[in-house]
Amino acid sequence: MSTPTFDRTQSPLIFDLGQDGRANKYVEDARPMTDFLPKSLLRDELPLPDNSELDVMRHFTKLSQRTFGIDLGFYPLGSCTMKYNPRINDAMATKREFAQLHPYTPDELAQGALQVMYELERSLSSLFGMAAFSLNPSAGAHAELAALLIAKKYFKDRGETKRDKVIVPDTAHGTNPASAAMCGFKVISLPSDQRGRVSVEEIKKVLGDDTAVCMMTNPNTLGLFEDHIHEIAQAVHDAGGLMYYDGANANAIMGNVRPGDMGFDLMHLNTHKTFTIPHGGGGAGHGPVGVAAHLVDYLPTPVVRATPKSNGDINAAPSDRYTFSLDFDLPKSIGPMRSFWSNFAHAVRALAYIYANGVGGLKKVSQLAVLNANYIRVKVAEFLDTPYPEICRHEFVASAQELKKETGVKALDLAKALLDHGMMAPTMYFPLIVPECLMIEPTETESKETLDQFIGVLREIVEEAKRNPEAVMAAPVTTVVGRVDETRAARNPDLKWEPAQA
Ligand SMILES: *Cc1c(COP(=O)(O)O)cnc(C)c1O
Repeated sequence: MSTPTFDRTQSPLIFDLGQDGRANKYVEDARPMTDFLPKSLLRDELPLPDNSELDVMRHFTKLSQRTFGIDLGFYPLGSCTMKYNPRINDAMATKREFAQLHPYTPDELAQGALQVMYELERSLSSLFGMAAFSLNPSAGAHAELAALLIAKKYFKDRGETKRDKVIVPDTAHGTNPASAAMCGFKVISLPSDQRGRVSVEEIKKVLGDDTAVCMMTNPNTLGLFEDHIHEIAQAVHDAGGLMYYDGANANAIMGNVRPGDMGFDLMHLNTHKTFTIPHGGGGAGHGPVGVAAHLVDYLPTPVVRATPKSNGDINAAPSDRYTFSLDFDLPKSIGPMRSFWSNFAHAVRALAYIYANGVGGLKKVSQLAVLNANYIRVKVAEFLDTPYPEICRHEFVASAQELKKETGVKALDLAKALLDHGMMAPTMYFPLIVPECLMIEPTETESKETLDQFIGVLREIVEEAKRNPEAVMAAPVTTVVGRVDETRAARNPDLKWEPAQA
Protein backbone atom coordinates (compact mmCIF):
# COMPACT_ATOMS: atom_id res chain seq x y z
CA MET A 1 0.00 0.00 0.00
CA SER A 2 1.41 3.37 -0.91
CA THR A 3 1.56 5.83 1.93
CA PRO A 4 -0.54 8.91 1.35
CA THR A 5 1.45 12.02 2.14
CA PHE A 6 -0.16 14.64 4.23
CA ASP A 7 -0.59 17.79 2.18
CA ARG A 8 1.01 20.55 4.23
CA THR A 9 -0.34 23.31 2.00
CA GLN A 10 -3.86 22.07 2.77
CA SER A 11 -3.06 21.64 6.45
CA PRO A 12 -0.38 24.14 7.45
CA LEU A 13 1.12 23.93 10.92
CA ILE A 14 1.11 27.04 13.05
CA PHE A 15 4.83 27.26 12.26
CA ASP A 16 4.08 27.56 8.55
CA LEU A 17 1.88 30.59 9.15
CA GLY A 18 2.58 34.15 10.21
CA GLN A 19 5.35 36.63 9.55
CA ASP A 20 7.94 38.34 11.67
CA GLY A 21 6.43 41.18 13.65
CA ARG A 22 2.84 40.07 13.26
CA ALA A 23 2.27 38.82 16.80
CA ASN A 24 0.08 40.86 19.12
CA LYS A 25 2.42 42.25 21.77
CA TYR A 26 0.86 43.02 25.10
CA VAL A 27 4.19 43.96 26.70
CA GLU A 28 6.96 45.93 25.04
CA ASP A 29 9.87 44.12 26.57
CA ALA A 30 9.46 40.76 28.30
CA ARG A 31 12.93 40.67 29.81
CA PRO A 32 12.06 42.03 33.26
CA MET A 33 9.65 39.12 33.66
CA THR A 34 12.46 36.59 33.42
CA ASP A 35 15.24 38.63 35.06
CA PHE A 36 14.82 36.80 38.36
CA LEU A 37 15.39 33.35 36.76
CA PRO A 38 18.88 31.80 36.74
CA LYS A 39 20.50 32.47 33.36
CA SER A 40 21.37 28.78 33.00
CA LEU A 41 17.67 27.92 32.82
CA LEU A 42 16.83 30.39 30.05
CA ARG A 43 16.83 29.44 26.39
CA ASP A 44 18.98 31.41 24.01
CA GLU A 45 16.29 31.29 21.43
CA LEU A 46 12.83 29.86 21.02
CA PRO A 47 11.74 29.90 17.41
CA LEU A 48 8.04 30.55 17.92
CA PRO A 49 6.08 31.70 14.88
CA ASP A 50 4.88 35.31 14.85
CA ASN A 51 1.14 35.03 14.33
CA SER A 52 -1.61 37.48 15.20
CA GLU A 53 -4.02 36.46 17.94
CA LEU A 54 -6.86 36.24 15.40
CA ASP A 55 -4.90 33.94 13.09
CA VAL A 56 -4.00 31.70 16.03
CA MET A 57 -7.66 31.50 17.09
CA ARG A 58 -8.74 30.62 13.55
CA HIS A 59 -6.00 28.03 13.12
CA PHE A 60 -6.85 26.10 16.26
CA THR A 61 -10.60 26.47 15.85
CA LYS A 62 -10.32 25.01 12.34
CA LEU A 63 -8.28 22.10 13.67
CA SER A 64 -10.85 21.46 16.40
CA GLN A 65 -13.56 21.19 13.75
CA ARG A 66 -11.74 18.39 11.96
CA THR A 67 -12.27 15.96 14.77
CA PHE A 68 -15.28 13.71 15.16
CA GLY A 69 -17.06 13.18 18.43
CA ILE A 70 -20.31 12.13 19.99
CA ASP A 71 -21.43 15.78 19.98
CA LEU A 72 -21.23 15.80 16.16
CA GLY A 73 -22.78 12.53 15.13
CA PHE A 74 -23.64 8.89 15.74
CA TYR A 75 -20.82 6.96 17.42
CA PRO A 76 -21.72 3.23 17.44
CA LEU A 77 -18.42 1.93 18.81
CA GLY A 78 -18.86 -1.48 20.45
CA SER A 79 -17.41 -2.42 23.84
CA CYS A 80 -16.04 1.04 24.59
CA THR A 81 -19.42 2.62 25.40
CA MET A 82 -19.35 6.05 23.73
CA LYS A 83 -22.47 7.78 24.88
CA TYR A 84 -23.69 11.31 25.20
CA ASN A 85 -22.03 13.20 28.06
CA PRO A 86 -24.76 15.22 29.78
CA ARG A 87 -23.57 18.78 30.39
CA ILE A 88 -24.76 18.74 33.98
CA ASN A 89 -21.74 16.51 34.73
CA ASP A 90 -19.37 19.19 33.51
CA ALA A 91 -21.32 21.95 35.20
CA MET A 92 -20.68 20.13 38.48
CA ALA A 93 -17.06 19.11 37.82
CA THR A 94 -16.03 22.63 36.82
CA LYS A 95 -17.53 24.29 39.87
CA ARG A 96 -14.80 26.38 41.44
CA GLU A 97 -15.15 24.58 44.77
CA PHE A 98 -14.22 21.27 43.10
CA ALA A 99 -12.01 22.32 40.21
CA GLN A 100 -9.66 24.54 42.22
CA LEU A 101 -9.04 22.28 45.19
CA HIS A 102 -5.35 21.66 45.72
CA PRO A 103 -4.42 18.00 46.19
CA TYR A 104 -2.86 18.87 49.57
CA THR A 105 -6.00 20.60 50.86
CA PRO A 106 -6.51 19.32 54.39
CA ASP A 107 -9.57 17.13 54.98
CA GLU A 108 -11.32 19.78 57.12
CA LEU A 109 -11.34 22.18 54.16
CA ALA A 110 -12.38 19.56 51.59
CA GLN A 111 -15.43 18.00 53.23
CA GLY A 112 -17.68 18.50 50.18
CA ALA A 113 -15.19 16.85 47.81
CA LEU A 114 -14.66 13.95 50.20
CA GLN A 115 -18.41 13.55 50.52
CA VAL A 116 -18.63 13.25 46.70
CA MET A 117 -16.08 10.43 46.74
CA TYR A 118 -17.77 8.75 49.70
CA GLU A 119 -21.21 8.89 48.11
CA LEU A 120 -19.90 7.68 44.75
CA GLU A 121 -18.17 4.76 46.45
CA ARG A 122 -21.36 3.85 48.36
CA SER A 123 -23.53 4.25 45.24
CA LEU A 124 -21.32 1.99 43.10
CA SER A 125 -21.15 -0.61 45.87
CA SER A 126 -24.92 -0.84 46.14
CA LEU A 127 -25.55 -0.63 42.37
CA PHE A 128 -23.14 -3.49 41.63
CA GLY A 129 -23.47 -5.58 44.79
CA MET A 130 -19.92 -5.17 46.08
CA ALA A 131 -18.84 -4.56 49.70
CA ALA A 132 -16.62 -1.62 48.78
CA PHE A 133 -14.88 0.18 45.92
CA SER A 134 -11.63 2.10 45.69
CA LEU A 135 -11.85 5.06 43.32
CA ASN A 136 -8.08 5.15 42.93
CA PRO A 137 -7.26 3.50 39.55
CA SER A 138 -7.25 5.67 36.42
CA ALA A 139 -8.90 3.38 33.87
CA GLY A 140 -10.36 -0.07 33.33
CA ALA A 141 -7.01 -1.67 32.53
CA HIS A 142 -5.45 0.01 35.57
CA ALA A 143 -8.24 -1.39 37.76
CA GLU A 144 -7.76 -4.88 36.28
CA LEU A 145 -4.15 -4.63 37.36
CA ALA A 146 -5.23 -3.50 40.85
CA ALA A 147 -7.70 -6.39 41.15
CA LEU A 148 -5.14 -8.98 40.10
CA LEU A 149 -2.61 -7.54 42.56
CA ILE A 150 -5.32 -7.90 45.22
CA ALA A 151 -5.88 -11.53 44.21
CA LYS A 152 -2.15 -12.20 44.27
CA LYS A 153 -1.74 -10.76 47.76
CA TYR A 154 -4.86 -12.56 49.00
CA PHE A 155 -3.53 -15.95 47.86
CA LYS A 156 -0.08 -15.18 49.23
CA ASP A 157 -1.58 -14.40 52.65
CA ARG A 158 -3.39 -17.73 52.55
CA GLY A 159 -0.20 -19.56 51.60
CA GLU A 160 -1.71 -20.53 48.24
CA THR A 161 1.19 -19.38 46.09
CA LYS A 162 0.68 -22.26 43.69
CA ARG A 163 -2.32 -20.43 42.22
CA ASP A 164 -0.69 -18.85 39.18
CA LYS A 165 -3.28 -19.31 36.39
CA VAL A 166 -5.78 -16.75 35.18
CA ILE A 167 -8.58 -17.98 32.93
CA VAL A 168 -9.68 -15.58 30.19
CA PRO A 169 -12.42 -16.39 27.61
CA ASP A 170 -11.40 -15.88 23.96
CA THR A 171 -13.97 -13.07 23.60
CA ALA A 172 -12.22 -10.99 26.30
CA HIS A 173 -10.76 -7.56 25.75
CA GLY A 174 -6.99 -7.63 25.20
CA THR A 175 -6.38 -5.81 28.47
CA ASN A 176 -7.51 -8.90 30.45
CA PRO A 177 -4.67 -11.23 29.42
CA ALA A 178 -2.26 -8.27 29.39
CA SER A 179 -3.10 -7.35 33.01
CA ALA A 180 -2.79 -10.99 34.09
CA ALA A 181 0.61 -11.30 32.40
CA MET A 182 1.79 -8.04 34.00
CA CYS A 183 1.01 -9.54 37.43
CA GLY A 184 3.07 -12.61 36.61
CA PHE A 185 0.09 -14.93 36.11
CA LYS A 186 -0.08 -17.51 33.33
CA VAL A 187 -3.03 -16.93 31.01
CA ILE A 188 -5.32 -19.75 29.95
CA SER A 189 -7.46 -18.78 26.98
CA LEU A 190 -10.87 -20.43 27.06
CA PRO A 191 -12.65 -21.10 23.75
CA SER A 192 -16.29 -19.96 23.52
CA ASP A 193 -18.99 -22.49 22.70
CA GLN A 194 -21.36 -22.50 19.68
CA ARG A 195 -23.56 -19.97 21.47
CA GLY A 196 -20.67 -17.52 21.89
CA ARG A 197 -20.47 -18.12 25.62
CA VAL A 198 -18.27 -19.80 28.24
CA SER A 199 -19.34 -23.40 28.70
CA VAL A 200 -19.44 -24.95 32.17
CA GLU A 201 -17.88 -28.20 30.82
CA GLU A 202 -14.97 -26.36 29.16
CA ILE A 203 -14.14 -24.29 32.20
CA LYS A 204 -14.23 -27.33 34.49
CA LYS A 205 -11.50 -28.89 32.31
CA VAL A 206 -9.04 -26.11 33.12
CA LEU A 207 -9.92 -25.50 36.78
CA GLY A 208 -7.65 -26.84 39.48
CA ASP A 209 -5.63 -26.03 42.58
CA ASP A 210 -3.50 -23.72 40.41
CA THR A 211 -6.49 -21.55 39.42
CA ALA A 212 -6.19 -17.99 40.73
CA VAL A 213 -8.78 -15.91 38.91
CA CYS A 214 -11.38 -16.29 36.16
CA MET A 215 -11.89 -12.94 34.36
CA MET A 216 -15.25 -12.54 32.69
CA THR A 217 -17.16 -9.80 30.89
CA ASN A 218 -20.93 -10.15 31.23
CA PRO A 219 -22.58 -9.51 28.87
CA ASN A 220 -19.51 -10.53 26.91
CA THR A 221 -18.08 -8.62 23.97
CA LEU A 222 -20.47 -10.38 21.58
CA GLY A 223 -23.23 -8.66 23.54
CA LEU A 224 -24.44 -11.99 24.92
CA PHE A 225 -25.35 -12.58 28.55
CA GLU A 226 -23.44 -15.47 30.11
CA ASP A 227 -26.54 -17.33 31.23
CA HIS A 228 -24.60 -20.04 33.11
CA ILE A 229 -22.81 -17.51 35.25
CA HIS A 230 -23.96 -19.02 38.55
CA GLU A 231 -22.67 -22.49 37.66
CA ILE A 232 -19.41 -21.01 36.35
CA ALA A 233 -18.90 -18.98 39.54
CA GLN A 234 -19.72 -22.04 41.63
CA ALA A 235 -17.18 -24.18 39.75
CA VAL A 236 -14.44 -21.51 40.07
CA HIS A 237 -15.15 -21.07 43.78
CA ASP A 238 -15.20 -24.86 44.32
CA ALA A 239 -11.71 -24.93 42.79
CA GLY A 240 -10.65 -22.17 45.24
CA GLY A 241 -10.37 -19.42 42.61
CA LEU A 242 -11.76 -15.89 42.48
CA MET A 243 -14.22 -14.46 39.96
CA TYR A 244 -13.37 -11.13 38.32
CA TYR A 245 -16.00 -9.02 36.54
CA ASP A 246 -14.78 -6.80 33.71
CA GLY A 247 -17.35 -4.01 34.02
CA ALA A 248 -16.77 -2.35 30.64
CA ASN A 249 -20.19 -3.61 29.52
CA ALA A 250 -21.98 -2.49 32.69
CA ASN A 251 -24.18 -0.23 30.56
CA ALA A 252 -26.14 -3.35 29.67
CA ILE A 253 -27.00 -4.37 33.24
CA MET A 254 -26.81 -1.31 35.49
CA GLY A 255 -29.72 -1.23 37.91
CA ASN A 256 -31.06 -4.55 36.58
CA VAL A 257 -28.65 -7.24 37.81
CA ARG A 258 -25.56 -7.00 40.00
CA PRO A 259 -22.19 -8.73 39.51
CA GLY A 260 -22.06 -9.33 43.27
CA ASP A 261 -25.24 -11.39 42.98
CA MET A 262 -23.81 -13.30 39.98
CA GLY A 263 -20.99 -14.54 42.22
CA PHE A 264 -18.15 -12.15 41.38
CA ASP A 265 -15.53 -11.35 44.04
CA LEU A 266 -13.76 -8.51 42.24
CA MET A 267 -14.74 -6.08 39.52
CA HIS A 268 -13.99 -2.82 37.82
CA LEU A 269 -16.10 -0.09 36.27
CA ASN A 270 -15.06 2.27 33.53
CA THR A 271 -16.89 5.36 34.73
CA HIS A 272 -15.76 7.01 31.48
CA LYS A 273 -17.90 4.46 29.63
CA THR A 274 -20.95 3.60 31.74
CA PHE A 275 -21.14 6.89 33.63
CA THR A 276 -20.89 9.30 30.67
CA ILE A 277 -17.45 10.84 31.03
CA PRO A 278 -15.94 11.98 27.70
CA HIS A 279 -13.01 9.78 26.70
CA GLY A 280 -12.27 10.07 22.99
CA GLY A 281 -8.63 10.04 21.97
CA GLY A 282 -7.48 8.18 25.06
CA GLY A 283 -8.38 11.02 27.41
CA ALA A 284 -8.24 10.71 31.17
CA GLY A 285 -10.24 7.76 32.44
CA HIS A 286 -11.44 6.51 35.79
CA GLY A 287 -11.59 2.88 36.86
CA PRO A 288 -13.00 2.19 40.32
CA VAL A 289 -12.14 -1.32 41.54
CA GLY A 290 -14.72 -3.12 43.67
CA VAL A 291 -14.46 -6.14 45.96
CA ALA A 292 -16.64 -8.50 47.97
CA ALA A 293 -16.41 -8.47 51.78
CA HIS A 294 -13.52 -10.96 52.10
CA LEU A 295 -11.24 -8.72 49.99
CA VAL A 296 -12.02 -5.25 51.39
CA ASP A 297 -8.76 -5.06 53.37
CA TYR A 298 -6.75 -5.35 50.13
CA LEU A 299 -8.26 -2.38 48.29
CA PRO A 300 -5.90 0.28 46.95
CA THR A 301 -5.60 3.38 49.13
CA PRO A 302 -6.36 6.19 49.69
CA VAL A 303 -9.99 5.63 50.58
CA VAL A 304 -12.57 7.99 52.04
CA ARG A 305 -14.25 7.11 55.29
CA ALA A 306 -17.17 8.72 57.04
CA THR A 307 -16.56 8.95 60.76
CA PRO A 308 -18.46 5.94 61.99
CA LYS A 309 -21.46 6.63 64.14
CA SER A 310 -20.66 3.65 66.36
CA ASN A 311 -17.98 1.12 65.48
CA GLY A 312 -15.59 0.87 62.53
CA ASP A 313 -18.26 -0.42 60.15
CA ILE A 314 -17.52 1.03 56.70
CA ASN A 315 -21.19 0.78 55.82
CA ALA A 316 -22.01 3.23 58.59
CA ALA A 317 -24.40 6.01 57.62
CA PRO A 318 -22.70 9.11 56.22
CA SER A 319 -21.96 11.69 58.84
CA ASP A 320 -20.69 15.21 58.50
CA ARG A 321 -17.08 14.21 58.90
CA TYR A 322 -15.10 12.61 56.08
CA THR A 323 -11.48 11.60 56.10
CA PHE A 324 -9.20 10.61 53.26
CA SER A 325 -6.25 8.52 54.19
CA LEU A 326 -3.53 6.23 52.96
CA ASP A 327 -3.50 4.03 56.02
CA PHE A 328 -6.75 3.74 58.00
CA ASP A 329 -7.21 0.13 59.02
CA LEU A 330 -6.12 -1.41 55.73
CA PRO A 331 -2.74 -2.93 56.60
CA LYS A 332 -3.12 -5.48 53.80
CA SER A 333 -3.87 -2.84 51.12
CA ILE A 334 -1.94 -3.18 47.86
CA GLY A 335 -1.22 0.57 48.27
CA PRO A 336 -2.01 3.44 45.93
CA MET A 337 -2.20 2.83 42.18
CA ARG A 338 -1.67 6.53 41.52
CA SER A 339 -1.16 9.85 43.24
CA PHE A 340 -3.50 12.02 45.29
CA TRP A 341 -7.22 12.02 44.50
CA SER A 342 -6.91 10.12 41.21
CA ASN A 343 -9.12 11.65 38.48
CA PHE A 344 -11.34 13.43 40.97
CA ALA A 345 -13.26 15.49 38.37
CA HIS A 346 -14.46 12.18 36.93
CA ALA A 347 -15.77 11.11 40.33
CA VAL A 348 -17.82 14.33 40.37
CA ARG A 349 -19.14 13.66 36.85
CA ALA A 350 -20.06 10.06 37.66
CA LEU A 351 -21.92 11.04 40.83
CA ALA A 352 -23.72 13.86 38.99
CA TYR A 353 -24.89 11.31 36.42
CA ILE A 354 -26.05 8.87 39.09
CA TYR A 355 -27.99 11.54 41.00
CA ALA A 356 -29.46 13.08 37.83
CA ASN A 357 -30.91 9.68 36.84
CA GLY A 358 -31.66 8.01 40.14
CA VAL A 359 -31.75 4.23 40.43
CA GLY A 360 -34.91 4.01 38.31
CA GLY A 361 -33.33 6.15 35.60
CA LEU A 362 -30.13 4.10 35.50
CA LYS A 363 -32.18 0.93 35.16
CA LYS A 364 -34.01 2.48 32.21
CA VAL A 365 -30.70 3.59 30.64
CA SER A 366 -29.65 -0.07 30.41
CA GLN A 367 -33.01 -1.22 29.13
CA LEU A 368 -33.04 1.41 26.36
CA ALA A 369 -29.44 0.60 25.41
CA VAL A 370 -30.50 -3.04 25.00
CA LEU A 371 -33.64 -2.10 23.07
CA ASN A 372 -31.70 0.15 20.65
CA ALA A 373 -29.07 -2.56 20.01
CA ASN A 374 -31.73 -5.16 19.26
CA TYR A 375 -33.61 -2.78 16.94
CA ILE A 376 -30.48 -2.28 14.82
CA ARG A 377 -29.52 -5.96 15.02
CA VAL A 378 -32.82 -7.16 13.54
CA LYS A 379 -32.71 -4.61 10.69
CA VAL A 380 -29.01 -5.16 9.89
CA ALA A 381 -29.66 -8.93 9.69
CA GLU A 382 -31.64 -8.18 6.49
CA PHE A 383 -28.41 -7.32 4.62
CA LEU A 384 -25.40 -8.54 6.70
CA ASP A 385 -24.74 -11.77 8.60
CA THR A 386 -25.32 -11.63 12.32
CA PRO A 387 -23.54 -14.75 13.59
CA TYR A 388 -25.47 -14.91 16.89
CA PRO A 389 -29.10 -14.35 15.91
CA GLU A 390 -30.68 -14.05 19.34
CA ILE A 391 -31.68 -11.25 21.69
CA CYS A 392 -28.49 -9.35 22.51
CA ARG A 393 -27.72 -6.94 25.31
CA HIS A 394 -26.29 -3.46 24.62
CA GLU A 395 -24.24 -4.44 21.55
CA PHE A 396 -24.10 -7.08 18.83
CA VAL A 397 -21.74 -8.28 16.13
CA ALA A 398 -22.30 -8.45 12.39
CA SER A 399 -19.93 -10.09 9.92
CA ALA A 400 -18.95 -8.98 6.41
CA GLN A 401 -17.40 -12.36 5.57
CA GLU A 402 -20.03 -13.35 2.97
CA LEU A 403 -19.98 -9.87 1.46
CA LYS A 404 -16.19 -10.07 1.17
CA LYS A 405 -16.41 -13.42 -0.66
CA GLU A 406 -19.00 -12.01 -3.02
CA THR A 407 -17.57 -8.53 -3.66
CA GLY A 408 -14.13 -8.17 -2.07
CA VAL A 409 -15.51 -5.45 0.23
CA LYS A 410 -14.35 -6.03 3.82
CA ALA A 411 -15.52 -4.89 7.25
CA LEU A 412 -12.79 -2.24 7.10
CA ASP A 413 -14.24 -0.81 3.88
CA LEU A 414 -17.76 -0.63 5.33
CA ALA A 415 -16.35 1.14 8.38
CA LYS A 416 -14.45 3.68 6.27
CA ALA A 417 -17.50 4.31 4.07
CA LEU A 418 -19.58 5.23 7.13
CA LEU A 419 -17.19 8.13 7.77
CA ASP A 420 -18.28 9.72 4.47
CA HIS A 421 -21.82 9.81 5.87
CA GLY A 422 -20.85 11.70 9.03
CA MET A 423 -21.00 8.65 11.28
CA MET A 424 -18.27 7.07 13.34
CA ALA A 425 -17.31 3.52 12.38
CA PRO A 426 -18.18 0.68 14.74
CA THR A 427 -15.38 -1.35 16.32
CA MET A 428 -13.93 -3.69 13.66
CA TYR A 429 -12.19 -7.07 13.83
CA PHE A 430 -13.03 -7.53 17.50
CA PRO A 431 -13.82 -9.90 19.10
CA LEU A 432 -11.26 -11.97 17.24
CA ILE A 433 -13.44 -15.07 16.98
CA VAL A 434 -15.81 -13.46 14.44
CA PRO A 435 -14.25 -13.00 10.97
CA GLU A 436 -14.79 -9.59 9.29
CA CYS A 437 -16.48 -8.42 12.45
CA LEU A 438 -18.33 -5.17 13.05
CA MET A 439 -19.32 -4.63 16.67
CA ILE A 440 -22.18 -2.19 16.98
CA GLU A 441 -23.29 -0.42 20.17
CA PRO A 442 -25.78 2.41 19.66
CA THR A 443 -26.31 3.36 23.37
CA GLU A 444 -29.54 4.53 24.97
CA THR A 445 -29.57 8.21 24.06
CA GLU A 446 -30.00 7.84 20.28
CA SER A 447 -33.42 8.50 18.78
CA LYS A 448 -35.24 6.05 16.51
CA GLU A 449 -34.62 8.50 13.63
CA THR A 450 -30.84 8.32 14.17
CA LEU A 451 -30.94 4.52 14.40
CA ASP A 452 -32.97 4.35 11.18
CA GLN A 453 -30.57 6.72 9.47
CA PHE A 454 -27.60 4.53 10.46
CA ILE A 455 -29.35 1.36 9.28
CA GLY A 456 -30.26 3.09 6.00
CA VAL A 457 -26.70 4.29 5.38
CA LEU A 458 -25.20 0.87 6.16
CA ARG A 459 -27.74 -0.81 3.86
CA GLU A 460 -26.89 1.66 1.09
CA ILE A 461 -23.14 0.97 1.48
CA VAL A 462 -23.70 -2.82 1.31
CA GLU A 463 -25.80 -2.37 -1.86
CA GLU A 464 -23.13 -0.10 -3.34
CA ALA A 465 -20.53 -2.80 -2.54
CA LYS A 466 -22.48 -5.21 -4.78
CA ARG A 467 -22.83 -2.71 -7.62
CA ASN A 468 -19.52 -0.91 -7.45
CA PRO A 469 -17.10 -2.41 -4.90
CA GLU A 470 -14.22 -0.12 -5.96
CA ALA A 471 -16.18 2.94 -4.84
CA VAL A 472 -16.62 1.51 -1.33
CA MET A 473 -12.99 0.42 -1.20
CA ALA A 474 -11.90 4.00 -1.99
CA ALA A 475 -13.77 5.50 0.98
CA PRO A 476 -13.48 7.80 2.80
CA VAL A 477 -13.34 10.60 0.26
CA THR A 478 -14.86 13.47 2.25
CA THR A 479 -12.50 13.43 5.25
CA VAL A 480 -9.35 15.55 5.55
CA VAL A 481 -7.15 12.46 5.44
CA GLY A 482 -8.18 9.40 3.41
CA ARG A 483 -6.82 5.94 4.17
CA VAL A 484 -3.62 5.89 6.12
CA ASP A 485 -1.10 3.12 6.51
CA GLU A 486 -2.34 2.22 9.97
CA THR A 487 0.71 0.16 10.89
CA ARG A 488 3.12 2.94 10.03
CA ALA A 489 0.87 5.56 11.60
CA ALA A 490 0.98 3.59 14.86
CA ARG A 491 4.61 2.45 14.77
CA ASN A 492 6.33 5.44 13.18
CA PRO A 493 4.16 8.45 13.80
CA ASP A 494 5.67 11.62 12.39
CA LEU A 495 4.91 14.11 15.14
CA LYS A 496 8.03 16.21 15.19
CA TRP A 497 8.41 19.68 13.77
CA GLU A 498 11.87 21.01 13.01
CA PRO A 499 12.67 24.58 12.06
CA ALA A 500 13.77 25.03 8.48
CA GLN A 501 17.54 25.33 8.15
CA ALA A 502 18.49 28.96 7.77
C1 LIG B 1 -12.57 -0.65 27.40
C2 LIG B 1 -12.46 -2.03 27.89
C3 LIG B 1 -11.45 -2.40 28.81
C4 LIG B 1 -10.32 -1.48 29.21
O1 LIG B 1 -10.73 -0.32 29.84
P1 LIG B 1 -9.91 1.06 29.74
O2 LIG B 1 -10.69 1.97 30.62
O3 LIG B 1 -9.90 1.46 28.30
O4 LIG B 1 -8.53 0.80 30.26
C5 LIG B 1 -11.48 -3.69 29.32
N1 LIG B 1 -12.42 -4.58 28.92
C6 LIG B 1 -13.39 -4.26 28.02
C7 LIG B 1 -14.40 -5.30 27.64
C8 LIG B 1 -13.43 -2.98 27.47
O5 LIG B 1 -14.37 -2.67 26.56
